[in-house]
Amino acid sequence: MNITNIIDGKPIAAKLRGDLAKEVACLPYQPGLAAILVGDDPASQVYVRNKIKACEKVGIRSIERRIAADASNEDIARVIEPLNADPEIDGILLQLPLPKHLNSDMLVQLIAPEKDVDGLNFVNVGSLVAGHDSGMIPCTPQGAMILIKSVMENLSGMNALVIGRSLLFGKPMAHLLLQENCTVTMAHSRTRDLPEVCTRADILVAAAGVAKLVKGDWIKPGAVVIDVGINRMESGKLCGDVDFDAAQGVAGAITPVPGGVGPMTITCLLANTIRAAINRRG
Ligand code: NAD
Repeated sequence: MNITNIIDGKPIAAKLRGDLAKEVACLPYQPGLAAILVGDDPASQVYVRNKIKACEKVGIRSIERRIAADASNEDIARVIEPLNADPEIDGILLQLPLPKHLNSDMLVQLIAPEKDVDGLNFVNVGSLVAGHDSGMIPCTPQGAMILIKSVMENLSGMNALVIGRSLLFGKPMAHLLLQENCTVTMAHSRTRDLPEVCTRADILVAAAGVAKLVKGDWIKPGAVVIDVGINRMESGKLCGDVDFDAAQGVAGAITPVPGGVGPMTITCLLANTIRAAINRRG
């Protein structure tokens, strides 16, 4: 039986945040992030609060723009536009999901590409697909890649599987793995025989949002398993998309939920904001 290495995201994120704080301290200006929160979804409020706190800790100035839940697309556009033009603001994030009546796909495209720290503007999506390193990379896949590299330096030729094909995670993750010369498979809700597809993966990244979807005997012995899913069980506890207990002893390395990919997401948001500031202000 394998000894499974637990990839603890917390110390990796803490080390990176320390490095980012040092980088900010050397800049002749203070990078600025604007977070736009629409409505009063409690989870979104917590996410935005955590992002703002994390900014403070590394020396990024942050502002929050709160917009009422019944706002129109035009109301939100009127908040985004002055932030695009504001020289003190380097990054803009529109906290998703938005209330259902709003067109989040369209609104995200209004954020200036150079300030799009979530990497969802099509200019940034296009850069990633083209294999250019000039664009903003979405935070969660960027963080997941750092975790993979913490246990596997050279990914070249590895069979990598990404379960989930969202624009926020699955698609950018697949492109990052392709850039590392992996042979990439994308699985999704219409994939036939997911267990068989999983058994071929040297790197398995699960982001379906289905609790304990990936069973222990689907995992290739020794595989690196990155669990992105966040699911709340009836008990109130969080769990990932991988059956963590069953994966122990099979996987070579695995991220826990919580405490794996989660801490990396905000860290990469901070990194993207600093990068956006340096790109714009030198
Ligand atoms: P999404 O709902 O947009 O996409 C889910 C994808 O999974 C879809 O492409 C769908 O085809 C696929 N899928 C659904 N059921 C499947 C099944 N049974 N078999 C195979 N594929 C299936 O979700 P998302 O925004 O990409 O997020 C996915 C998960 O990752 C969620 O649990 C979310 O909470 C989590 N997440 C975590 C972080 C973090 O910071 N840790 C960030 C983003 C998302």
